[in-house]
Amino acid sequence: MIFSTVSQAPADPILGLTEAFKADPRQDKVNLGVGIYKDEAGQTPVLTSVKKAEAKLIEIEKSKSYLGIEGVQAYNRAVQTLLFGQDSDITTHDRARTAQAPGGTGSLRMAAEFLVNNTQSSTIWLSNPTWANHQNIFSSAGLSIESYDYYVPETQNIDFEAMLTSLANASAGDIVLLHGCCHNPTGIDLTQAQWQVIGQLCLDKQLLPLFDFAYQGFGAGIEEDAQGLRTVASLVPELIIANSFSKNFGLYNERIGAVTIVAESSESASRAFSQLKKTIRSSYSNPPAHGGLIVATILEDAALRSEWEQELTTMRNRIAQMRALFVQMLKDEGVQRDFGFIANQNGMFSFSGLDKAQVTQLREEFGIYIVGSGRISVAGLTKDNLPKVCKAIAHV
Ligand code: PLP
Repeated sequence: MIFSTVSQAPADPILGLTEAFKADPRQDKVNLGVGIYKDEAGQTPVLTSVKKAEAKLIEIEKSKSYLGIEGVQAYNRAVQTLLFGQDSDITTHDRARTAQAPGGTGSLRMAAEFLVNNTQSSTIWLSNPTWANHQNIFSSAGLSIESYDYYVPETQNIDFEAMLTSLANASAGDIVLLHGCCHNPTGIDLTQAQWQVIGQLCLDKQLLPLFDFAYQGFGAGIEEDAQGLRTVASLVPELIIANSFSKNFGLYNERIGAVTIVAESSESASRAFSQLKKTIRSSYSNPPAHGGLIVATILEDAALRSEWEQELTTMRNRIAQMRALFVQMLKDEGVQRDFGFIANQNGMFSFSGLDKAQVTQLREEFGIYIVGSGRISVAGLTKDNLPKVCKAIAHV
């Protein structure tokens, strides 16, 4: 048999955990693994703004004919405004081209395929640590992976000097993957001054920044979270952004994201984009329409946009509240270690400092599911499950 020699692939560290969670019969189990927002009732509901946009779309939709390779044009324009702001230098000079793509993952993969086939370097630098899937995506596309120092567990902070020292070893043309905001898994982002230094470093060393921007609006706000990206974009002539609307629109299963190429001129952007389109054509031909139409409908309608912004603010604030309560409750449970740093991290995740043995004990003894690195999805905490989680952490 041909398939009899195929070996078993290891389970994905994050999605495999969800499968184990689903199979766990315990009623009071808690999933703090995968990065999915849960409301106070532990649900991941469809946003009201999304429901309204969908109702509108069903009413006006006349055809399900193919989209172009780059997807919905109104969506692509809206993406550029979210990324760069109104009237940015980049859009005014027509230096960006955007293709709608299936989620942040699909966007990253298309960016990687484009880079492998069209640029001089095939080395990408990833932060240590980074989102587990980065390694798979980039190595599957044929890029070689290097890592730059980022987070120091002992100080629960970034070692910026060490980051610069690592990147000093990068060669002209190398790609540097940067988390636009809400760094996954650490929750610690660069300051504006540090973004400035990184932008200058990329310029001086001719490195290509590739932004993974999956959490816009989950840190400090929609505009605030784009400041790092905009700072770097103001310094370098060329960059790529892979963004996702899975989290900030709650459109996880619609697979909606985008890859945006910024070049030094409109003409250069068009040429690069023609190659990106070629890559997309041979991968999935053209994107699914629904997610892009939802996002475009919301962003183009003042009332829906304002409702979405409100819903996003509610999500952001609830996570911040859970962080504060988590820290307080651990203290109340008599946990000696200072977990105060959790309150200062951005986005859905918290790098808890729990080790592998503690993570295993939490799962086996208490039905609390956390990824092996100790990353906790704070967005999965609720007032109901917090006491159980804090008691269990105090125990381990
Ligand atoms: N990038 C980072 C840092 C992420 O955390 C995620 C999702 O967890 C993604 C990209 C991928 O997002 P999507 O689900 O839209 O593919």
